[in-house]
Amino acid sequence: MSYALPVYPYRKPPELTERRSFEYPVIVVGAGLAGLTAALELGSRGIRTVLLDEDDTVGAQGLSSRGICHAKRSLEIFDRSGVAARIRGKGVTWNEGEVYRGAERLYRFNLQPEADQKFPAFVNLQQFYVEQYLVERLQQMPEVELRWKNKVVAVQPEPDSMLLEVETPDGPYRAKCRYLLAADGAHSVVRAQLGAKDAASELLESVWCIADVRMAGEADVVRRSYLDSPLNAGGAIWYHQMADGVWRTDWLITHYPERDAEATPERAAARLGKLLGPGKPFELVWVGPYRFRRRYLERMRMGRAFFLGDAAAQHSPFGARGGNRAVQDANNLAWKLALVLAGRAHPELLDTYHDERHPAARENVEHSTRAAIFIGPESAGQRLIRDAILDLAQRHAWARAWVNVGRLSVASVYEDSPFNRERGSFKSEKARPGAAAPDGRCGEGFLVERLGGDFCVVYFGAPGPALDVQTFSLSKQDHGPLFVRYGVADTATYVFRPDGHVLARCTGIDGHFARQAMEEVLSYRNHPRKAMPTPPPAPGLTQAQIDRLYDELAALVDATAAPERERMLARLAVALARGVGDYERVREAINSARAT
Ligand SMILES: Cc1cc2nc3c(=O)[nH]c(=O)nc-3n(C[C@H](O)[C@H](O)[C@H](O)COP(=O)(O)OP(=O)(O)OC[C@H]3O[C@@H](n4cnc5c(N)ncnc54)[C@H](O)[C@@H]3O)c2cc1C
Repeated sequence: MSYALPVYPYRKPPELTERRSFEYPVIVVGAGLAGLTAALELGSRGIRTVLLDEDDTVGAQGLSSRGICHAKRSLEIFDRSGVAARIRGKGVTWNEGEVYRGAERLYRFNLQPEADQKFPAFVNLQQFYVEQYLVERLQQMPEVELRWKNKVVAVQPEPDSMLLEVETPDGPYRAKCRYLLAADGAHSVVRAQLGAKDAASELLESVWCIADVRMAGEADVVRRSYLDSPLNAGGAIWYHQMADGVWRTDWLITHYPERDAEATPERAAARLGKLLGPGKPFELVWVGPYRFRRRYLERMRMGRAFFLGDAAAQHSPFGARGGNRAVQDANNLAWKLALVLAGRAHPELLDTYHDERHPAARENVEHSTRAAIFIGPESAGQRLIRDAILDLAQRHAWARAWVNVGRLSVASVYEDSPFNRERGSFKSEKARPGAAAPDGRCGEGFLVERLGGDFCVVYFGAPGPALDVQTFSLSKQDHGPLFVRYGVADTATYVFRPDGHVLARCTGIDGHFARQAMEEVLSYRNHPRKAMPTPPPAPGLTQAQIDRLYDELAALVDATAAPERERMLARLAVALARGVGDYERVREAINSARAT
């Protein structure tokens, strides 16, 4: 009962065959999603990179596939190296999900209602397949050297480099690099060696059991989340398909008196029998328990070392954010390193890795922790408010925004990036500076395919001057949907960063504006700058405000002694009615809250 993983050959490193030490531009420690993507992004920009891994395979030995859901943004990033097509070909594409409470379906959602995009919201595929495809692509890249069974045991900062001590089957060796990428996962040795400190770290209460199961039958492309399921003694269940006819099922088991026993194949099979129905044959592929930690570093850069993926932050899998965040970390750092190593930008540009990716790490940790708590409330207050939200969601579509079964991974927006520039007014928030480029049909293909790893300037509505980067123009007649997605009424200039995020935009055709925006990146020095003004808030509550209010309401209930709770909730209702200040809307709220 396990997966068969490929085994890669160990080769004696040149330090041991030639008996001398070398200095490399970049060493990446860890060939997981973060390290492999970083090596790919660096190698594709011609940067000599050595990738060290203590193991000789992909995935995590003896464990199930950890990640399964690979988000649109990760696929776009992998596409630049030609790996996305393999992932898509092997995996299960999905955009839609269903949320159940007990036996009743609350609602169905579509993560990608807009058509004309190269990639779907998600492709489900066992993480080790994705890693295997990345390895095979890297094996074709002369710039990247993959060293299996090379375990980093010590790291020492030196004035102009980092010194590593590495253990191999042939004995230890030392290697130097100008920049070190710590992608060595949750138990990062580099982190411990450099004494990097966590800003937050906490093990969550919930205990889960994964049961991966193989079944014959049709492809089933809907992701199902069951809350309070009678098939799991009132606990949550997750159910979705991966490749090879294997389904991932996750079972909340915190509420069982014998948690360890609930994570055994026998109990998992008994529960699966109830979920799948009588007489449905299935084969268990992997069963095991897991808990998760909420943790992120204070700093994602320490001198010449950078932390990526799980080495930088950890959180629950709800929202499929860990691996997808790791891929985005690599995507953000690689182009900056490539520019600095090529002498095209000042090394201070590298500080913006922390500035842009640290908020992203925090945001991912917060989102996935909240989802975990919504799914398996840990306090009476959390349960009370959650149940109230589910009651409302059963009857009112508006309340679905409050249901949090994992806000699924999307591209981070670098809201406070010092590079963001905007002039003129645009009708698209989705294409604002800092956001990943929205996709759409572009000529025979898609826009994201044309943003090829370097700066790129796109003129909307009229041709513009040639610049020393890729430049092209789009006519409204042929690209109407892109004009809508980019909020362009007439003409505009968009500048894209090498990682495919919007750098700057202005109305009108302006090559000078584009040149200046790129120049500001290349000449970036880490001194305070005026941030781009934030757009006025849209009416209504944002998703982030809704999620924070859930926390605050739950905390208020928990802070109020049980006999006093009803009175407190009544006081809250009166105070909110006064805040709303609209008789009809308050009456509507009273009607929504009725028991039947
Ligand atoms: C149950 C579960 C479900 C998940 N589902 C999803 C999902 O659907 N989508 C998603 O995006 N994420 C998901 N995740 C999270 C995802 O699996 C991780 O976030 C991701 O693996 C992190 O990648 P990484 O490269 O940072 O670390 P890892 O994948 O842990 O890679 C670290 C690498 O470093 C190597 N290494 C460690 N120490 C050393 C050393 N001293 N020297 C050399 N090499 C070393 C290891 O061998 C390993 O190859 C899930 C996680 C779990 C547990």
